[in-house]
Amino acid sequence: MSVISRELKMLREDVLAANLELFRLGLALFTWGNASAVDRERGLVVIKPSGVPYDTMTADDMVVVDLEGRPVDGALKPSSDLPTHLALYRAFPLAAGIVHTHSTHATAWAQAGLDLPAEGTTHADHFYGPVPCTRCLNDAEIAGDYERETGNVIVETFRNREIDPASVPAVLVHSHGPFCWGTSALDAVHNAAVLEEVAKMAILSRIACMAAKDGPPPMQQSLLARHFERKHGKNAYYGQK
Ligand SMILES: [Zn+2]
Repeated sequence: MSVISRELKMLREDVLAANLELFRLGLALFTWGNASAVDRERGLVVIKPSGVPYDTMTADDMVVVDLEGRPVDGALKPSSDLPTHLALYRAFPLAAGIVHTHSTHATAWAQAGLDLPAEGTTHADHFYGPVPCTRCLNDAEIAGDYERETGNVIVETFRNREIDPASVPAVLVHSHGPFCWGTSALDAVHNAAVLEEVAKMAILSRIACMAAKDGPPPMQQSLLARHFERKHGKNAYYGQK
């Protein structure tokens, strides 16, 4: 086996593992998610095939294209989001792997059209500032080269807002969902999982803030004491002797 085909085989296996991990972590239902990786030296991208179920997918099913999306190897059609991945690989040289999901909580922020704010240390450990939400695509972009324009609007967001894609390796596409990148396909999956978790925490924090204002009053002191004392007090009687 030539060096190129051996290295491509490894990259195919990495991309398969990343796609299966998306499914295992509950970040992608059915065939919704997709993961890819790039070999910068050879200018090749390996990506999940379009619409193949996770439970039958093999490394050989992964599709190899060049950075312009021209097919290089593989019998199947690449993920329809390929042009978005390619736009990001071209604009963000640090990205070695890219992941797209519709994970619930991150997608909730994207559908709200809101940046995901930095509100705690879990966020700060991974993202240096808010995870930005893009503008809406306009009608011409939607009708045109839609998936490529999705990539362009992500790149535009980072450029216009002067966000470093190395410090914030994720984005929320307006009315759509997250794209994440990393130092490998699996690292991008890791970032997608962290994004989903901090997106969930931010929603729950809002509910907790609302609860502090509008929640029910504290329980009766007498009822609180009765229950605590019957289990832990000096005359406790709860449970078996
Ligand atoms: Zn999508």
